[in-house]
Formats: sequence, structure tokens, C-alpha cells
Amino acid sequence: MKFDTILVQGGHNPSENRNAIAVPIYQTTAYNFNDVQFAADLFDLKVGGDIYTRISNPTTQVLEERLAMAEGGIGALCVSSGQSASLIAILNIAKAGDEIVASENLYGGTINLLGITLEKMGIKTRFVASQNPEDFQKEINEKTACIFAEALTNPSIAIADIEGLAKVAHRNNLPLIIDNTVATPYLLNPIKFGADIVVHSTTKYITGHGNAMGGVIVDSGNFDWNCSDKFKCITDKDPSYHGLSYTETFGKAAYIVKARAQLLRDLGCCQSPINSYLTIIGLETLSLRMQKHSDNALKVAKYLQNHKFVKSVCYPALEGNQYYDLAKKYLPKGASSLLSFVIDGDRAVATKFLENVKMLIHATNIGDVRTIVTYPALTTHRQLTAEQLEECGISESFIRLSVGIEDADDIIADIEQALEKAMA
Ligand SMILES: *Cc1c(COP(=O)(O)O)cnc(C)c1O
Repeated sequence: MKFDTILVQGGHNPSENRNAIAVPIYQTTAYNFNDVQFAADLFDLKVGGDIYTRISNPTTQVLEERLAMAEGGIGALCVSSGQSASLIAILNIAKAGDEIVASENLYGGTINLLGITLEKMGIKTRFVASQNPEDFQKEINEKTACIFAEALTNPSIAIADIEGLAKVAHRNNLPLIIDNTVATPYLLNPIKFGADIVVHSTTKYITGHGNAMGGVIVDSGNFDWNCSDKFKCITDKDPSYHGLSYTETFGKAAYIVKARAQLLRDLGCCQSPINSYLTIIGLETLSLRMQKHSDNALKVAKYLQNHKFVKSVCYPALEGNQYYDLAKKYLPKGASSLLSFVIDGDRAVATKFLENVKMLIHATNIGDVRTIVTYPALTTHRQLTAEQLEECGISESFIRLSVGIEDADDIIADIEQALEKAMA
């Protein structure tokens, strides 16, 4: 199957579902065991099948198979949010005493997870300020368990050099984990460039309609967990499965089987069948939406670039952007919906702009079909002083857009009238 076929048909066989064409919602907690031996084999992980929806569910399984195919992986695990996807992806290989080397250009929630919550659990993160892969090398030591970065970053709109990061990771016998939320598998497949594990917040573009939280971990199956003695938790016998070794029993699928059988079982942040269903519907139109998001964002960026009330615009597909060359390499079809711009005015002007938008929605979310505008100085970065804001690359009149799939002319017209009123 090619990509667009996978999105609408992958992982679902109507004849196994009473010929239902749409994927049914299996709103059930538990499953009847055919016989006693089958139950025993299920619990020994000797046969596949459903036991309890915290661990697996047929609706969620369709989504997992589709997302694994779409990213070019060998298996996937759906979880309750993007945050739990990052958490499980890391805890599956890192324990207290280990370290992570991560880009500093990350989603705020991930910065908190790595820098504060995991640090309290004994897993320290060394953050790298630059996007240069060799600067990641400098932070790697004998405790490092993985490298973590975002392909296209939210909110700073930087691009990771995935191929370069993969080289550094593999030179040190480490896996590379890439958060591909903003690019999505339509615009970019990190596994093709050497990423070993891909995570997403499906809450954003994959669901696409702002109506279901979710996350996914996709395993490329390419990383050799026996390449060093750091990954004993995957290669050695697991006492919680009567001494089973994941690599011996599941080969290339060792990582993703362990994530489900051990961590999803124990941590419990499972996806609900109804959210999997909504995400499946969203995923079916991913290609159409991502192309339109990207085309609209480029139009809006070009309009803002020449605007007399706008100081600067940041969009990677815009010539002159510092990530333009990386965008051409990694995002040839388009650069997704995120763009930012700085109004030529102070906090009062930016506030007035926000008060006057009519169609644009003021919220903190991205990847919705609707255009969403956020004003970090007033919301997410509210506690920071003007100087601290400048340090984060965010000025007092910095506005961020997640450009939706409405008609681009309407989006531009709304920005235009709000800018006129703000500057009046
Ligand atoms: C939103 C987001 C997350 C967190 O996802 P949730 O589904 O909100 O938990 C992680 N990474 C990126 C890049 C995001 O945009």
C-alpha cells in the first residue's frame, strides 16, 4: 500500500468486523477467553490477543497499525496523550542514574517533563541549545541512554537535522527519538533519515479536528539493543514476565512489545477506544489537510513578509529563513501550519490585535483545522519579563499562528483588519 491508501485502509479488514467499513468502536474493557489454555498463553505473551483494554483494544489496534505503516515502522503503541508517549518512550530504556541528551528547542510540556519531573525520578537531561548535531556529541557520556529532539519544533519553529543527529546517536550506540508531531508522517518520515523511535501527540494534526487527546510511539525496529550493555532492561530477563527476554522472544519488536507489556500495563496511560476512533477518522484525511495547512501557511507568511506593520516573520519555507535549507531537505512538500510574526508595536498594540481578530480563534492549541492564534507574552510565557522574553526569542509583540484549512483569503483578510485596528 502507498501512503494515502494506508491512511484510509491500513490495518482494517471489514470481513473480520462483520463487514463494517468504518472501523467499529470496541467500547469494552475485557475480552472473553476462548478456553483456559488460550488465557494462559495470552498471559505468557505466547499468542496475540486482547486481555484488557489498558493493554490492547481492537479499535486502537487499527490506529496503531495504520500509524506504524504511515511512519515506516514495525509497530506502534497508542497512549492517552503526547506527554505519555514521550514519557513511555523514554522510561522504556532509561532508569534512575541514566541521562538524556535533548534539544532545548522543544514543546514546553516536554521541557518540564525532562527537566523537572524525570530529573526528580533520577533521570537527568542535558539540554543542547544549538541545532548542530556535533553539539549533541559534546553532552554524551557513559550514562546517556538516548537522544531526543523534535523534527519541526513547537513553538520555536526550528528544524532538526535528523540525519546528522542519527549519525551522532549511532556512533555512540544510542537510539534517536524524534517527536514528529508538527511535521506528521505526510510531510516527513524521520525513520527514513535514521530515527529509531518516533513519537507524536496525535491530539494535534493526526486527529486534526481538536476533539481527541492522544499520543503514539512508533518503533522503526532498526535499533540493535544488544549493541551495548546499556539496554539490559530490553535484552535481559524481565522478572515481571517470568524471566522473558524481549530481544530473544520478540526480535526487532522488542522495544515496542516491552513498552506495552510492561510500561502501559504498569503506568496505565492507555488510549480510549472512542478517541482511537476519532483519531482514525482524522488520520484518513491527513494528506489533504497537511497540504492545505502548509499551502495556507506559506500564503499567510508571504503576505505578512511584506506588511508595513510587521517587523519579522518566521516560517521555514520562506526564503531567507535560517532553516530554509533544512526545510527543503526534510519538508519538500510543505512546512506545516506553524508560523510566527512580530508586530511593529508594543504589548498594547499586540493585545489590540488579538482583541480585534474575528475569525481567528484565540486558544492554545495547534494542528486544528481552524486557524488558532496565540500570544505567548500574555499566556504561556506570561511570568517572564521583557528581557526574559527576548532571551526565548519572543518579543512583547510576538504572535504565533497555527494556520488552519479555511480559505487563505479569509485568514489574510481577518489579520489585515485586526492589524489596521491595532495600529490605528
Ligand atoms: C502538544 C505537543 C505535545 C504534548 O502532547 P499532548 O497530546 O498535549 O499531551 C508534545 N510534543 C509536541 C511537539 C506538541 O506540540
